[in-house]
Amino acid sequence: MSSGHGRVLLAGGGIGGLTTALCLHRAGLDVTVFEAVAEPRELGVGINLLPHSVRVLDDLGLADDLAEVGVATSELRFCSDDGVLIWSEPRGLAAGNPWPQISVHRGRLQMMLLDAVRSELGADRVLTGHRIESFSQDGESSGHQVEARFVDRSGAEVAVERGSVLVGCDGLHSVVRRHLVGDEGPPHHSGLVLWRGAVEMAPYLDGRTMFMAGHDNQKAVVYPIRGPREPGGTVLTNWVAERPVAIGGDRADADWNAPVDPGDIAPWFADWDFGWINVGEVIAATDVAYEFPMVDRHPLERWTDGRVTLLGDAAHPMRPNGSNGASQAILDGEALARSLSASDDPSAALLAYEQERRDPTSRLVLANRQAGPERVMQWVADRCDGACGPATGGRHVCVTTDVLEREANAYKELAGFDLATLRNLAD
Ligand SMILES: Cc1cc2nc3c(=O)[nH]c(=O)nc-3n(C[C@H](O)[C@H](O)[C@H](O)COP(=O)(O)OP(=O)(O)OC[C@H]3O[C@@H](n4cnc5c(N)ncnc54)[C@H](O)[C@@H]3O)c2cc1C
Repeated sequence: MSSGHGRVLLAGGGIGGLTTALCLHRAGLDVTVFEAVAEPRELGVGINLLPHSVRVLDDLGLADDLAEVGVATSELRFCSDDGVLIWSEPRGLAAGNPWPQISVHRGRLQMMLLDAVRSELGADRVLTGHRIESFSQDGESSGHQVEARFVDRSGAEVAVERGSVLVGCDGLHSVVRRHLVGDEGPPHHSGLVLWRGAVEMAPYLDGRTMFMAGHDNQKAVVYPIRGPREPGGTVLTNWVAERPVAIGGDRADADWNAPVDPGDIAPWFADWDFGWINVGEVIAATDVAYEFPMVDRHPLERWTDGRVTLLGDAAHPMRPNGSNGASQAILDGEALARSLSASDDPSAALLAYEQERRDPTSRLVLANRQAGPERVMQWVADRCDGACGPATGGRHVCVTTDVLEREANAYKELAGFDLATLRNLAD
């Protein structure tokens, strides 16, 4: 273990920041998390953790907690807007992977990680109500330290803290990123809007299946994020509706928590009754939905300046196609801890971390702009003459299975969770 590092300052206590704190602590480093929100709550709806990121949480001793808060996904299905199957594949353990894929409520995952950080590092290692506002780095005469200034919600200064390294884990609207690379303007808007919600309902299919249905003009993504509390009980089910919306280019107002009435969305899906699920009814039964413009940012040429770097959405915010946002933030945390513990030189360690993580995540940002693995749904919409359905065994034959399989495998390889890579990680 390297002894050359002093205190690591993590700005942002979301999924990436909290996982990074646990990884750094395990590596023997002194860490403090500074989170802008004064009282973190269970915010957000569903997210997916792909098997390579579940491996990191498993190594941190969190596998049982994770199994309790989430659902081990068994299958992923793509369907057309009438429910006819395009492609189906086993996921996680069902696919022979050494680790499961976990679908989970984002807020519950964040609270689980927060509890773990407080109990392993000490409650005083998470300072809430601390929003990073600015930072500076000084030279040899002052001991090569980073100094960060934190404010509360009103903008009043609450602390000035020094450390040997500062990591911006402060999400989509990262302040650390703005200071590092300058003002990039608002996030880049895809022209698509997501509406998301979660509802208690009877399980569909095996109670562990994620499906996507539709095409570029209207899509639904549905998956359970919490199992039944008692035998025969309801499951908490996440849904996402997606549509193109002609509103502006860039979106400064991208806010994960903008509430809307699900009753405005459900009618678009009124005839999406697939027999095993009625998408319109699921949406209509939900109490509140959240609107989010699908945004990302262009990949950066660099993440690091001296003793300061970026991680998770602050480094590589990406469109959610392919379920990679949280997983890649978790992988960043593991890589950062590995780099810092392998070198006595913090700046060199941050560069090594960036070198490992920037290219793969940049490629994913770009792949997700092409709708990631979901693009096969539009291929079917473009090619199908309407003959696919009961006459073709209840599935589409207009795009061949080998093309679909190649596409699915190519994305898994790009994101690092193909079977061969996972088995190598397990050895
Ligand atoms: C409230 C919320 C709800 C979300 N809901 C969903 C969802 O339903 N589905 C989905 O796919 N993704 C959602 N996300 C995004 C998802 O969590 C991330 O894409 C992914 O997990 C990567 O994690 P991250 O730690 O990089 O970013 P995040 O999980 O976004 O965490 C960033 C953290 O930094 C904090 N922060 C922000 N600015 C500052 C600052 N200046 N100083 C200190 N701390 C700061 C934030 O409060 C947050 O805790 C949500 C994010 C947030 C913040």
